[in-house]
Amino acid sequence: MGEQTGPVKRRLGVMGGTFDPVHHGHLVAASEVASQFHLDEVVFVPTGQPWQKSHKLVSPAEDRYLMTVIATASNPQFSVSRIDIDRGGPTYTTDTLRDLSVLNENADLFFITGADALAQILTWRDTEELFSLAHFIGVTRPGHILANPGLPEDRVSFVEVPALAISSSDCRARVAQGEPVWYLVPDGVVRYIDKRKLYRHDG
Ligand code: ATP
Ligand code: MG
Repeated sequence: MGEQTGPVKRRLGVMGGTFDPVHHGHLVAASEVASQFHLDEVVFVPTGQPWQKSHKLVSPAEDRYLMTVIATASNPQFSVSRIDIDRGGPTYTTDTLRDLSVLNENADLFFITGADALAQILTWRDTEELFSLAHFIGVTRPGHILANPGLPEDRVSFVEVPALAISSSDCRARVAQGEPVWYLVPDGVVRYIDKRKLYRHDG
């Protein structure tokens, strides 16, 4: 059979992150990209001990994994993968995408990332392999679409996302100061943070 008659490929979004904690910015970004790019599914992939952040304390992988499961469980289009956590050690996007492409032979991968992080991709060594593994989608806040000379246009897109002012660092700082994170993260994640006493200086 020729290529034209082959099965239509699934369109799989990949949202990598520390998710410490996962928040509504992540969820809105995934939902917005899924809609604009007609994705069949978005898989959230919490990192192992991330090298960019290894100088800081990152919450245990199981806590970050469970918060991501709690946050995504009600959306039939969202799922969570343990591949980066189970591989162990620092997470490299190439490994994530390589493993996911083996597990999802019949899918086109769309890697969703902050536009700032995407700009850094230019500085990585294995960009050619990355671009062969996935289409890259940089999310920006409205009005901040970046012109990116040097990024291959057919492999990189930008999407404006509302609610981008939310960050995990701010959520952690709020919890540490006894300020609320209600409505910044899903209700179940507020409760989980409380239950596990995450982000408290005394915790
Ligand atoms: P931190 O504040 O610790 O850097 P973060 O909020 O950026 O955390 P990460 O887990 O590092 O969260 O982010 C995972 C991915 O989600 C990254 O690609 C990041 O650019 C993107 N992202 C983070 N916050 C938002 C947001 N508010 N809207 C859209 N994308 C986001
Ligand atoms: Mg960040």
